[in-house]
Amino acid sequence: MDIQTKCVQAGYEPKNGEPRVLPLYQSTTYVYDTPEQLAKLFDLSEDGHIYTRISNPTVAGFEAKVNALEGGVGAVACSSGLAAETLAILNVCFAGDNIVSLATIYGGSFNLFNVTLRKYGIDTRFVSPKASYEEIAKVIDDKTKIIYCETLANPNMNIANFELLAKIAGDFGILFVVDNTLATPIICRPIEHGANVVVHSTTKYLDGHASCVGGIIVDGGNFNFKDNPRYPEFNTPDESYHGLIYTSVAPACFSTKARVQMMRDLGSCMSPFNAYLTNLGSETLHLRMKQHSDNALLCARALSKNPKIEWVKYSGLENDENYDLAQKYFSGGLNSGMVVFGIKGDREQVCTFMKALKLVKIVTHIADARTCVLHPATTTHRQLSSEELVACGISENLVRLSVGIENPYDIISDLEQALQAIY
Ligand SMILES: *Cc1c(COP(=O)(O)O)cnc(C)c1O
Repeated sequence: MDIQTKCVQAGYEPKNGEPRVLPLYQSTTYVYDTPEQLAKLFDLSEDGHIYTRISNPTVAGFEAKVNALEGGVGAVACSSGLAAETLAILNVCFAGDNIVSLATIYGGSFNLFNVTLRKYGIDTRFVSPKASYEEIAKVIDDKTKIIYCETLANPNMNIANFELLAKIAGDFGILFVVDNTLATPIICRPIEHGANVVVHSTTKYLDGHASCVGGIIVDGGNFNFKDNPRYPEFNTPDESYHGLIYTSVAPACFSTKARVQMMRDLGSCMSPFNAYLTNLGSETLHLRMKQHSDNALLCARALSKNPKIEWVKYSGLENDENYDLAQKYFSGGLNSGMVVFGIKGDREQVCTFMKALKLVKIVTHIADARTCVLHPATTTHRQLSSEELVACGISENLVRLSVGIENPYDIISDLEQALQAIY
């Protein structure tokens, strides 16, 4: 199946007489005739659902679709993007361990890594997105469990150098985890470029309608946990799961552990209703990503020509610093709907512009059908110090524009009239 067909049909195959559309199973529980049958599920010797915290048929349909889109061997849907990241990290990291992450990541992820995980003894070593092999290798030690980046960084729009990061991860035998939220599998499939685990905030393009918060972990099944000294937990019996050794369920070791151990204990599961709606949204992902990308390119070009604008960053612009990486890793000439730009001036000019917008709304969200803007320095990244802002690639005058799927010229007119309000 082509990826377009997968968006519409993957994950759910009805049998004779069953509903055409993935049904909403709004049930916490499942019935069994005998205790022996239920015991087989606990043993993982048979597939089936035990309890909705661990799995549910509607959630499973959505997981199977995203798994097919990303080319994984198993997926676990979570209550939010940050829950997916947390679960993926805690699946391999313990107190004393560390993560090596590009500094240019989503503000919420930065805070999780930089503040909250540190309190639990998990350290993050942030490196510049331009760091060389040697610079990254220098901060790796035998407690490094994850190399982490975003395909397309929110909000500064850097594209990850997959080849370099996958090489380092491979050389050191470290799990390479990629947040693919903003690119989506329509534009980039990180597993094809060496990622071992992909995480998403499904809240964004996968839903696409700003109606459900959610996340997902996709297991690439391409990491060798067997006898890897960094990951003893995968090679020794899990006493909390009657002695299961996770490498025995290869290749889906990571996703099996994330579900039967982490999700069982931490409980940040996606609700069936959110899976139902997000799955419905994902049926048009391929159509929307094309329109988001085409519209964003037109907006980026119009903004580049506007005298009130200092700079524009969009990997679809030929003079953009990420253009070559986009050519290398992105499919179909698409670059997503996220454009960032700097207005000439400071916070005051940004504020005047944002207040003058009519069609385009100010919201703490991105990547849905409606065009919106945000000023990261005073909102999503407000908790960061000036130095941290610089490290994350965010300037005072940076505006994050999430271009929707409306008519592009309506969006451009609104941006241009609001820019005229400055001075
Ligand atoms: C929004 C976002 C997240 C966090 O997802 P939530 O669903 O809001 O928890 C993580 N990564 C990226 C790139 C995001 O844009």
